[in-house]
Amino acid sequence: MRSFAYRTATTFRLPPLRPSAPFVKKSHSSKQWLRRHVNDPYVQRSKKEGYRSRSAYKLIEIDERDKLLAPGQVVVDLGSAPGGWSQVAGKKVGAAGTVVAIDLLGMEPVPGVAFVQADFTSPAGLEAVEAALAGRKADLVLSDMAPNMSGIAVSDQARVMALAEIALDFARLHLKPDGALLVKVFQGSGIDEYLAMLRATFAKVLVRKPESSRGESAEQYLLARGLKAGATP
Ligand code: SAM
Repeated sequence: MRSFAYRTATTFRLPPLRPSAPFVKKSHSSKQWLRRHVNDPYVQRSKKEGYRSRSAYKLIEIDERDKLLAPGQVVVDLGSAPGGWSQVAGKKVGAAGTVVAIDLLGMEPVPGVAFVQADFTSPAGLEAVEAALAGRKADLVLSDMAPNMSGIAVSDQARVMALAEIALDFARLHLKPDGALLVKVFQGSGIDEYLAMLRATFAKVLVRKPESSRGESAEQYLLARGLKAGATP
């Protein structure tokens, strides 16, 4: 049996901090990231306006342009933590509406949002979201899901596209006929095939790159509206 004796109070010791330890000295790029993050107008605005993420403004912008959210709607928020999109959706759908959110990570409660902590790609995660919907069809499926990036571009892109496909499968099953799917993707391999799948499923497909999405990021949002007849299984 493995011994955990070293964890007892008398023997457990953290290694001494040395100035040369890698976590003491921030790399040039992480310092640059931090400086840019702190000075980012959307980060500053989110702090002032009480949003948990700068991402909230991406949904706000797309919603202002495309009029996605309305009182009384049923909305599903895939990849919701820390909760910026859920906050925006919760406010817009109001007390008469429902937001069901899921993330691998925990999320502080958001008023009016039913949150599930689970892997959406697992049967348990999907079932938990379906249970929270309790048979209701959704007006809007949002997916801002993004995998942890490994830095290996080919496999990262494949994982991004796999999450987008799962969001599309879910939307096909759970959207109202006039519902919409807003899904994050990254420009790269698999995008053309994914767009073709969206166009086969929805009457209208639009590409959105909100101003709050950093220009240098390959991220973009695809908005698909109105299920085509026969698109649902
Ligand atoms: N829209 C969020 C907001 O406004 O706060 C930010 C979402 S963040 C960019 C992407 C999220 O997707 C992460 O919190 C991550 O844990 C989640 N995610 C990635 N893969 C997932 C999966 N398989 N199931 C559930 N959540 C997932």
